[in-house]
Amino acid sequence: MARRLDFQDHRRELETNRYVYPVVSRRARGLSIGVNLNPDKLCNFDCPYCQVDRTTPGGPSRIDVVALVSELEALLERASGDLWALPPFDSVAKELRRVADIAFAGDGEPTTPPEFPKAARAVRELRDRLAPGVPLRLLTNATLFHKEKVRTALAEFDDLWCKLDAGSEAYFQLVDGTRLPFRRILDNLLLVARERPIVIQAMLLTLDGAGPDDAEIAAWVERMREIVAGGGRIDHVQVYSVARKPSDPRCGPLAHERLETIAASARAAGLPAAVYV
Ligand code: SF4
Repeated sequence: MARRLDFQDHRRELETNRYVYPVVSRRARGLSIGVNLNPDKLCNFDCPYCQVDRTTPGGPSRIDVVALVSELEALLERASGDLWALPPFDSVAKELRRVADIAFAGDGEPTTPPEFPKAARAVRELRDRLAPGVPLRLLTNATLFHKEKVRTALAEFDDLWCKLDAGSEAYFQLVDGTRLPFRRILDNLLLVARERPIVIQAMLLTLDGAGPDDAEIAAWVERMREIVAGGGRIDHVQVYSVARKPSDPRCGPLAHERLETIAASARAAGLPAAVYV
């Protein structure tokens, strides 16, 4: 029988986790368990709105999948019991005291580490055993879907939440801070959306006080329409903006009314879209 820990011990254990972290999410209506496959904080994008603090060094790049699984197992067990006695979780409303999802979403693009396929399979097996019915999600920028090993591993996930912040190459490079070809991301989205429905996540914000203009939004809608016209399926589109102040002072939130107008333009093109706050 496991040793029963006091709250301080719990807190210390959670703080020393390398890969697994709990977040109470109003949007998910419960506890979202995050899996961070990028403790080194490396990412193949450099989005100006990124919340990852890269002023302090990250950890080692190598992923210890056994340690990851054991952290997740411990947290899943705790989430069905005494986690809710630990601040800040003790202040969570009773109806939100449930595991809403397990999401690969960390300090970089989760599909980049070589251990991604192994970690995805191990987490899916643990989820099946301990938390069947809890969705396993991948939050990704889709840059590596064309790699066979990554594409095969996508099958472990129930949901693929794919970033698409732009409609034009120039704006894509600006808002996602990358020189990777936009065409590759679009081709990758189509490739996978032809096999299974994907969710599109769009972070829309102001840069130096200006948000994406109407032409950029029309292009963004058109890129998604092209995916559908090419035989891809988009389950829904999540439109959102920065909630907390990003470290890059150029970034700011887009007004809620503007986000609503943008979501409406996606709906007008036949895409189920909503603003998420
Ligand atoms: S893809 Fe995500 S982790 Fe990478 S820079 Fe952009 S926001 Fe940050």
